[in-house]
This record gives sequence, C-alpha cells and structure tokens, in this order.
Amino acid sequence: MVRIEPDIRFVKDLMKMGGGDLKKCFQCATCSVICPQSPDENPFPRKEMIWAQWGLKDKLLRDPDIYLCHQCNDCSINCPRGAKPGEVLNAIRNYTFYEYSTPKFIGKLFTSPAYFPILIAIPIILLYAFLQIPGVLLSPEGEHVVYGNFINHLAIEVAGMLVGAYVIVVALLSFYKYWKAVGMSSGPVFEVERGVEGKTTMVSGGFWYEFWNALKDILRHTKFSECAENRYRYLAHLGVFYGFILLGISTLGAVAYMYLFGVKELALPLYDPVKILGNIGFLLLFGGMSWIVYRRLSASGTAGKPSYQDWFFITDLYLVAITGILMEASRLAGATDIAYPLYLVHLVLVFMLLAYAPYSKFAHLMYRGLAYMWAKKTGRLVGAKEASE
Ligand code: SF4
Ligand code: SF4
Repeated sequence: MVRIEPDIRFVKDLMKMGGGDLKKCFQCATCSVICPQSPDENPFPRKEMIWAQWGLKDKLLRDPDIYLCHQCNDCSINCPRGAKPGEVLNAIRNYTFYEYSTPKFIGKLFTSPAYFPILIAIPIILLYAFLQIPGVLLSPEGEHVVYGNFINHLAIEVAGMLVGAYVIVVALLSFYKYWKAVGMSSGPVFEVERGVEGKTTMVSGGFWYEFWNALKDILRHTKFSECAENRYRYLAHLGVFYGFILLGISTLGAVAYMYLFGVKELALPLYDPVKILGNIGFLLLFGGMSWIVYRRLSASGTAGKPSYQDWFFITDLYLVAITGILMEASRLAGATDIAYPLYLVHLVLVFMLLAYAPYSKFAHLMYRGLAYMWAKKTGRLVGAKEASE
C-alpha cells in the first residue's frame, strides 16, 4: 500500500510561483511524448504534473528530471488542456532554490514579490554602514570623474572578497544539500511513477569523469539545441552564458591591471583588449537577454510566461548593465554630480546580483550542472547523437 500525504501549501506555492495552471492537467501524457529531452524510461514531465497536483513535495524536490528540462515549451504548446507543464517545471525549479537555500530565511525572500522591499533594503543598509567606516568614503575634487577618489578602491575590494566568500560558502552548503537529496553521494535513487523506489544502474565512470561530461554538454548547450518550437533559446542562452564568461574574464583582466601592472584608476581606452572583451561580453549578454524577454512577452505566448524569479534576475541584470554604461558615459562627460550617485546605485544592484546568486535564478546554473552529472552517471541523459545511434 502506498500512503500519499499531499502538501497542499506546496501546491499553492507552486501555483503562485508560475505553475498556476497545473490543476488543468488530465494526465494524457502528450507532454512526455513530445518532450525532446525526456528519456523513454520514466519520462517527464507528465509524472511531475501528477506529483505536483498531489502535492508530493519531497518527490519533486529531489527529482533531477526537473533540471533536464530547458523550458523550450514544446510540451506547453501541445498540451490539450493548457496546463503549461513547461512553466510548472520552472516553478518547481524556482522552489528548489528556496528549499535547499542556506540560510533558508533568505531563500524565503525570493518566493514572493511581497518580500522585495526587504531584498532591496538589505544592500542599502549594508552600503550605508560600509560608507560610515572611516577612510571608505572620500571627497573627490576636480572636474574629472575618478571613482577611486569617491570610494576607496581597497575597501571595495575587501568588501567584494567578503561577499564572494559568503556566496561560495552558502552556495556549497546549498548544493551539497541538493546533491544529497537526489541521492548522488550514496548511489543514485530514482523513484518510479508508482511510488516504488529502485536503484538505478551506474553506467560510467567516477565524479570527475561525469563532471567533465556534464561540463562539455553545458559549454556546448547540447540539450538546448534540441528544442523544436523555441529554437531561439539555444542561441539566446548561448549569448547570455558566454557574455557572462567574457565579462568575468574582463573583470579578472582589470584586477590584473591594478595588481600586476600598478594601474591606479581603470579608465581604459576603447581599444584596450580587456575593454574589448568586456564590451563583446556585454553585447552578447544584453542581446541574449533582450531576445529572451522579447520572445517571452510577444503576443503568441509560445515561449512561456516569465515567473517573478525570472523577472527579478532579468531586471537586476538589465539595471546593472544600464547603470554601468551610464557610469562610463558620465565619466567621459565629466558629470561628477551624476556619476558618483550612479556608482552607489550600481553597487547596490551588483550586490543583489552576486550576493543573492545562490537564492536567485542564477543558482540554476549549479543545480542544473549537478542534475546533469547525476543523469550522465545513470545513463538517463545522453546526447542527441548518442541517442540516435
Ligand atoms: S500537462 Fe497537458 S499534455 Fe501533459 S499530461 Fe497533463 S494534460 Fe496531458
Ligand atoms: S519545456 Fe521542453 S524540455 Fe521542458 S518538459 Fe517541456 S518539452 Fe520538455
């Protein structure tokens, strides 16, 4: 006998977090047949739709299949009931950010727009306290905008390192909880649809072998390229992904300029290689994001509706980019009265992007990476080429 204990609160939370149509599902399985990512054995997303309707929170939150979905929405477009399984899976993924977050009360702040004022108040209060430390806030003089003359560069770097250390620690704790939950550390466990637990067969090598395998798929966006109805997502997400990487490399280049070459103020000319890399990264990121937002908002609605978590991440990213460009423009124009206040706004936005990374949409990168490793290890995930052979 299988005893089912539905979590009604969880069902309501999923519906609020983007899965509002989940109860329309009448379990025809069209979605599982149509999904280009779903394996033949224990396919998704029909089983997840049943679990979501029944409120089987524990099963859903340790089901790595939710991260094998790339929200191409082939299933939602073809669902005869308009239950939008692609959006339901996205809502479940968003819930995992909260469920495995450390500390959990910060993760909770991302579950509803009602907590947004707290999310923005935290960096403002921290920045205010930071500026009260003697020697941090300086008095810039002259007509030229020099950000290092406004806030002490060294203080910014120390604060950045502290935030970075916090992010690494809480991210590792959160991802370890997820790792344990999906059963990767003690042998993978896959629960079949009828509620019977069974051990899957390990099909290949150890941790690092699968890490490399999963990384290759992520770098090439192999699975994204299999989407049918929304193929644009492959290129758009590729742009966002590599845009981030190039921006990260250009930031490291800027740090190297300061510490290896003794450059005091980073007012790099447009032809500098680090600047060029940063600008290409920005264009890729901004172009990819804009393409995704445009398609999500377009009248056809076939690309799916963004959830609150999607909007939080997208808006913050846009604002970081826009304030960054305005800072550069006001520096070149020598507009000191605009540049320095903009710098403060930019710092708050960057904090929200980086310090909140383990709780926000950003976290999907790591959770998906772990789920990929599990799926590779158990033979559940194969590339399109391997599958056709
Ligand atoms: S989500 Fe739609 S397509 Fe999938 S099983 Fe339910 S009704 Fe059928
Ligand atoms: S959104 Fe795409 S990848 Fe996700 S379950 Fe639906 S068809 Fe599969």
